[in-house]
Amino acid sequence: MTGNRCNASRDGDTPTCGSQSPTADCGCLGTASNLNGDPLAWFGQMTQHCLQYAREAKAAGRPIVGILCEYTPRELILAAGAVPICLCGGSAATIPAAEKELPANLCPLIKSTYGYHIEGTNPFLEMADLVVGETTCDGKKKVYERMAESRPMYVLELPQKVDDPDALEHWVCELRKFRELLAIRFKVDVCDARLREAIGVMNRERFLRRELAALMRRDNPPLTGRQLLDFKSSISAIPADLEQYERALEIYSRKCPDGETASRVRVLMTGVPIPHGAERVLELVEQCGGLVVCMESCTGLKPVLEDVDAEAADPLRALAEHYFRLPCPVMTRNDRRLKFLRQMVEDYRPHCVVELIWQGCTTYDVESYRIRRLAEEQLGLPYLRIETDYSPSDSARIVVRVEALLETVRYGQAMR
Ligand code: SF4
Ligand code: SF4
Repeated sequence: MTGNRCNASRDGDTPTCGSQSPTADCGCLGTASNLNGDPLAWFGQMTQHCLQYAREAKAAGRPIVGILCEYTPRELILAAGAVPICLCGGSAATIPAAEKELPANLCPLIKSTYGYHIEGTNPFLEMADLVVGETTCDGKKKVYERMAESRPMYVLELPQKVDDPDALEHWVCELRKFRELLAIRFKVDVCDARLREAIGVMNRERFLRRELAALMRRDNPPLTGRQLLDFKSSISAIPADLEQYERALEIYSRKCPDGETASRVRVLMTGVPIPHGAERVLELVEQCGGLVVCMESCTGLKPVLEDVDAEAADPLRALAEHYFRLPCPVMTRNDRRLKFLRQMVEDYRPHCVVELIWQGCTTYDVESYRIRRLAEEQLGLPYLRIETDYSPSDSARIVVRVEALLETVRYGQAMR
């Protein structure tokens, strides 16, 4: 391993980020000064940008760390001078390969990710110096064992009784062990100062993505839900991405309402994460006349809702507390998710709720009963549960059900 120093030079002379800064821009992909186009077009090329950034960072000596879940604190990886990259698979193409080794009734997200692993076709996974997973759902845990047979893999033990004080203490210990592992493996001091700096960068990213999402609170949102979903990156804290988030905020907060979005049925989407490439259901909802004004999932608001206190006396504990509060159904009980959804309904004023469940995802599937009750009985909102996978074979059936939901909403509005 080459340690934490990035020796890339700009203009071929002085190294520009040979400092110990965990999040320094090494010139890889530059800053956004030359990126004056549409921020949506920028994020439309997200994978290419991430690939270029990762290759240049690796060539400059920064380790690549793959992550598979929102519970992994990217801040610790950044503080170790490494590049955190999300490896969650969103492609149906890799699933047949995965099914040769895994049960077919696992969720498509796990199978797609694993398919990339056995086919060796995810360049980010192939360049990873370390892959980090957590003990979340059973499918993931067991798949990590398989991946560890041929890749450097580290699994964080995530306790699952979220309200128990000793569970939090255990998580703090897990993150301390992870910090030590990163320090030894990458030969770097992951000190509090570096951690605070990384927290600051991630807070900036969370703030910008949160503010972009908040534009959807308007009666005439300036974006569609599909467009908003594109404002994210597989790699956190790329300086050019942060500049593009800022530009997008400037452009879209000033955009004149055209009235088109105001006439659509406002939809709150909840449920499983929607990795890049698996956006089909959201697209169908919007093609039917819905407008997804908020997404609760791990690819939506959930991970950016709160910041971490960079000035806390113990920044690692602050980080542990922040991530442990993430309202995922792998936790028992997961009452925070309901509180979060109530808040979203208040802020974004949806007319209905659509819950997406990946086939084989027991945790979300069982919890969907509570979400339906919350929506229909307590919030008075029509609710639709869509269980599917990455194959488009059921798209026509989904369209019929979404159209019926939207019609119910319109009928209710007409009757008022
Ligand atoms: S839904 Fe839960 S298990 Fe899946 S990425 Fe999010 S936090 Fe992790
Ligand atoms: S969608 Fe469900 S089954 Fe799939 S990885 Fe996430 S929690 Fe596990």
